[in-house]
Amino acid sequence: MIDRQARDLPLDAHLHTNLSPDSDVPIDVYAEQAVELGIAEIAITDHVDFEPGAPAHGYATFAEREHVVRAAAERWADRGVAIRFGVELTYDRTWHDDVRDHLARHRYDFTIGSVHDRVGSPYAPSRVAAWVAGRSLREVVAPMFDEVEAAARSGLFDVIGHIDVVKRYLHPYVTAADLAAVPELYEPILRALVDSGTALEVNTSGLRHGVAETYPSPAIVQRYRAMGGRAVTVGSDGHRAEHFAWALDDGYAAVAAAGFEALTFRRGGQPVSIDLHAAPNAVGGRSL
Ligand SMILES: [Zn+2]
Ligand SMILES: [Zn+2]
Repeated sequence: MIDRQARDLPLDAHLHTNLSPDSDVPIDVYAEQAVELGIAEIAITDHVDFEPGAPAHGYATFAEREHVVRAAAERWADRGVAIRFGVELTYDRTWHDDVRDHLARHRYDFTIGSVHDRVGSPYAPSRVAAWVAGRSLREVVAPMFDEVEAAARSGLFDVIGHIDVVKRYLHPYVTAADLAAVPELYEPILRALVDSGTALEVNTSGLRHGVAETYPSPAIVQRYRAMGGRAVTVGSDGHRAEHFAWALDDGYAAVAAAGFEALTFRRGGQPVSIDLHAAPNAVGGRSL
């Protein structure tokens, strides 16, 4: 794989460490790369799942995650990177109350709500071809898009992660181009984000996957902006050391092309605005 790690950007807002079941990266490996590459600030957003049987269900306790991330933040604070304690919570209406209660009891700097493929879902590799056959695109994406819309409307999260990661599961039976031809399918999700004031994530992991574009595409980021969306974040969703800040510059370019001048982030208090062109290795931002 060609090295596409970005340099000199103010924030990578989505990263998994070995406190997620699908990553084996110690937090210091990201911190070291952040300093080397000039990424001023990173959010550690390990998985929390409430679905029994999901790999992240009960994987690491809040106390353990908080301790590891806060201790690293202290170790690295004077060495050129600010580390924030975030989380990526898997959302589904089935466990809405569990997610709400978790967030009421636990304090994070920054929260991502994401919909992932469920145990037994129609998007499993062995089922997806049969699921797509004979269905309209609306019907094909509905199981995920309806949950993403509910996640956005819940108002529980700072940002909704990879809103159309369904592209990954559907590839190549439904292509990114097929979905791009019907952007109106995204409107209920974008409307829910705008109404609830929840940020849209531009997740660059899709550029490492077969779909070869961000989740969502630059055109959808523009549509969100046109519908009144005002808050965006960008994250590499790294699960391996070499994924750190992967194609993060493409995510920033998508955000800038849509007319944004800043990212909306949170460091535990009120949201902050981070200029897209903030000076390298300078943790800046103003309160919103
Ligand atoms: Zn995710
Ligand atoms: Zn993730």
